[in-house]
Amino acid sequence: MPLPLGFQHSYRALPERFYAALPPTPVREPRLVAFNRPLARDLGLDPGAVEAHAAEMFSGNRLPPDASPLALAYAGHQFGHFVPQLGDGRAILLGELVDSSGVPRDLQLKGSGRTPFSRGGDGRAALGPVLREYLVSEAMHALGIPTTRSLAAVLSGEPVFRDDALPGAVLTRVAASHLRVGTFQYFAARGDTEGVGALAQYAMARHYPEAASAPIPALALLAAVCERQAALVARWMMVGFVHGVMNTDNTAISGETIDYGPCAFMDAYHPETVFSSIDHQGRYAFANQPGIAQWNLTRLAECLLPLIDPDSDRAVSLATEVIEAFAGRFQRHWTHGMRAKLGLATQEEGDAALASELLELLQGAQADYTLAFRRLCDAAEDTRSQAPLLRMFGDAAPLEQWLVRWHDRLSRDTRYPAERAVAMRGANPAVIPRNHRVEAALQAAVAEGDMAPFFELFEVLQSPWALAPGREAYGDPPPSGGGRYRTFCGT
Ligand code: AMP
Ligand code: MG
Repeated sequence: MPLPLGFQHSYRALPERFYAALPPTPVREPRLVAFNRPLARDLGLDPGAVEAHAAEMFSGNRLPPDASPLALAYAGHQFGHFVPQLGDGRAILLGELVDSSGVPRDLQLKGSGRTPFSRGGDGRAALGPVLREYLVSEAMHALGIPTTRSLAAVLSGEPVFRDDALPGAVLTRVAASHLRVGTFQYFAARGDTEGVGALAQYAMARHYPEAASAPIPALALLAAVCERQAALVARWMMVGFVHGVMNTDNTAISGETIDYGPCAFMDAYHPETVFSSIDHQGRYAFANQPGIAQWNLTRLAECLLPLIDPDSDRAVSLATEVIEAFAGRFQRHWTHGMRAKLGLATQEEGDAALASELLELLQGAQADYTLAFRRLCDAAEDTRSQAPLLRMFGDAAPLEQWLVRWHDRLSRDTRYPAERAVAMRGANPAVIPRNHRVEAALQAAVAEGDMAPFFELFEVLQSPWALAPGREAYGDPPPSGGGRYRTFCGT
């Protein structure tokens, strides 16, 4: 019999129209394929005791006795088109567990069967996308980027039918909350200002308590969400992450990365990089991400207007000011991140331009983003170590000129070269979840039931700032330059 996990149920205390209460649909033959012991421990669980029941609990077959399963209501703009009702069509919230820093975190099963929000879908998930989310979300966490986490992956023992029959699986996702911009839109679209108000209260209590005591709480909430999203997207840009489906329902109020559907990391640097097979217009291309985040936050602002001021003109003007400040917020975080990547401990006016010039050179040479910055760390240590970086460029002359400007800038910085190189190696990962590696690991798991490549890659990605002896090849770009990698939504 599964044990109680110590759940709280703050979401359930919200009005009934916020969710549908229902249990997951049992699966045929649950089998645990991955379990995150360190995360279990951080959630105050006894990993051994939980693991013994993990297959039945985290498939949804036998829930812990203190779970209170719910599917959450939300709406959202998908590729710019508003859908007034989305909601958890294949996910069930079990409750919240308080982590070791005292923060309540949602536990949610994803792929757990149909709900009133399923529309045409089967409520299920395939093993490949479940393992992709497990691997990439935990890699993002190891990179220090705010993200939902993955506690467990369980095979269902049932096929799911996409283009082919695929093994089905259930992911246990852990999140600071599952509040989305689309959650606000759900109530706003219904003219339910009371619902928007209750949701704003809940969001502030859970994520932004300081906003609740601001002169205009809803405006402070908007500004706080803008700040976290600006910081988040800037972090994505530092590692070449392309989310792929930045719909408003996939934009978390907490500022965590959420919904790893068609996401992927860029190898060769190009601002227009798109991986998702359904993103025909390149709406969610790498360099569009900050602008899209601002667009999504504008949708949030619209929902909050009635709470900001009863005079709608005044509400619009206050909200507009906050939304317009997004670009500056993002630029600050981006420049801060780029300074770290370039090894700068001090600040000068021209730093962002220096970074942009390097990016243009990378783009022109189709150079690998991760590897180029990693080689820049070596060049920082000793000018004689510039050769491997220069070799990445067909015509090295423009880069040589850039390196002269960089060294000139470094001469006005405070650190010794060796110290700088160490700091840079803590800002420029040696390894990211490269598409060819992720693909090979998922392929082995799905087609052959072989989890060994997955676990080896997982382990490498847990220490992204250095490659252990024997694991150096994980830092390499794809042999062919990667070609045109395509990803598909996990649906
Ligand atoms: P996503 O693309 O995962 O962000 O999902 C967008 C919407 O489609 C959400 O409302 C999901 O719950 C729903 N959805 C995605 N896949 C399925 C599925 N297999 N069955 C039911 N609903 C789904
Ligand atoms: Mg989603």
